[in-house]
Amino acid sequence: MGTKYIFITGGVVSSLGKGIIGASLGRLLRARGFSVAIQKFDPYINVDPGTMSPFQHGEVFVTNDGAETDLDLGHYERFIDADFSQINNVTSGSVYQTVINKERKGEYLGATVQTIPHITNEIKSRILKATDEFKPDFLLIEIGGTIGDIESLPFIEAVRQFKAEVGAGNAISIHCTLLPYLETSGELKTKPSQHSVNVLRSYGIQPEILVCRTSHPILQEEKDKLALFCSVPKDAVIECRDMKSIYEVPLALEEQDMAAVVLNMLNTHYKHADLKSWKDLVNRINNPKRTIDVAIAGKYTKLSDAYISVVESLKHAGYANEAKVNIHWINSEECIDWKNCQELMKNLDAVVVPGGFGVRGIEGKLNVIRYARENNLPFLGLCLGMQCAVIEYARNVLGIKDANSREFSEECENPVIDLMLEQKDVTSYGGTMRLGQYECHLAKNSVAKRAYGSDVIFERHRHRYEVNNAYVADLEKAGLVFSGKSPNGKLMEMIELPKLDWFVASQFHPEFKSRPERPHPLFKGLIDAAVKRKK
Ligand code: GLN
Repeated sequence: MGTKYIFITGGVVSSLGKGIIGASLGRLLRARGFSVAIQKFDPYINVDPGTMSPFQHGEVFVTNDGAETDLDLGHYERFIDADFSQINNVTSGSVYQTVINKERKGEYLGATVQTIPHITNEIKSRILKATDEFKPDFLLIEIGGTIGDIESLPFIEAVRQFKAEVGAGNAISIHCTLLPYLETSGELKTKPSQHSVNVLRSYGIQPEILVCRTSHPILQEEKDKLALFCSVPKDAVIECRDMKSIYEVPLALEEQDMAAVVLNMLNTHYKHADLKSWKDLVNRINNPKRTIDVAIAGKYTKLSDAYISVVESLKHAGYANEAKVNIHWINSEECIDWKNCQELMKNLDAVVVPGGFGVRGIEGKLNVIRYARENNLPFLGLCLGMQCAVIEYARNVLGIKDANSREFSEECENPVIDLMLEQKDVTSYGGTMRLGQYECHLAKNSVAKRAYGSDVIFERHRHRYEVNNAYVADLEKAGLVFSGKSPNGKLMEMIELPKLDWFVASQFHPEFKSRPERPHPLFKGLIDAAVKRKK
């Protein structure tokens, strides 16, 4: 069959969880043996989210091919259990950049370059590019933002054109809305959804399916009303109630036969879904046998989305242990005071020091790591977390009191972490770090090799600094094991302290590869150790 297209828009409010809804539908189609690819359209002018502050935009998700993408791609990878790439995230910035570059090269042959058709053509060509690259049975395309936003209009217009071009039966759109609940009258209100669908229609798009976010069950009469006013079939009004876990959403949609509605509209034969392992997963999520307290000690702790993949990876490792992982957010600045740090760390079962940029809170992170090392508290360091662990070891075990990273001190005399050679001449910020998947070789008899069950691994990176090889021999002599290295042996990718129960850190970001049904070995190792310690 040719590729079928499913467009997902959102209305009424932002943060509806369109990504989770799309990812859940993707899982339901995958569970039926269909191949699924996705695209996230982001209307902002940044070429990619790599230059945005995690405080504002949450995590930057990195794909195998080194694209810095929207965090929703992480949800899509986790739910659909597939690997995506640069073509799966399309921003206004990247679309305009391509069009303007073409214009400068004279490729438009003197034409006046306009939103329609030039920008919309470029957007449609991205859809076709993803179709070509993945040849999926279904391409799910989520349009970021809320219907009515000025900046998403070119995307909406491209969707309108595309739907008309491929024809009914080959493309549908799903509109996600919110049904607010009025406490005083005890009812769900449908009017904002009706208005939102009207706005979408005014752009020439009639949605085929409505997914309504709600805190309360939607009554049949409310569904009927929505169907009538929004011109969708009654069985195409889907309820999406608040859930304890996002991983319950696919099952809630399956109960309403959403996939059947979608397949029918797209003239595709119905197939039964194999959701057994997903149901097992949700069963484990809902019936934990123990709780584990894990801290994330970082800088962006006010916005948990900044570490969304780390949080999900910890949960995945918890599910495998039938454990509920309670996350404790520790602002590393509060750990700069050693006494305070000890106080904050004392009742934990494990700690993660995640990635980050800049000097703020670094001394606190070093204290957190020192505490973990001295108290045999299971520890996982990610990227900056590994760099900090090397600095801490150099200072407190090797005795190099002024050991530091060049990132935090330009004039530092003992840069145990230094700028990578190929970064020395880099002057622009967007997409210039060491990005994406690289091969890494694990040392014989290492904790890392045992955890992975393999001596060659591939992991995703996003950094400019690295361990300075001039200090490696001394650090090794002092007991720090470099258990993962680049194939030429020159780049230190992992460290560990094998005498402790779990003290492991990586220059790469394992959190981008964890899946709910297949927790990442490094997170699994951390939570296994935490469970053992608690017992
Ligand atoms: N700031 C560090 C570097 O650029 C770590 C980056 C990160 O944690 N992603 O190398």
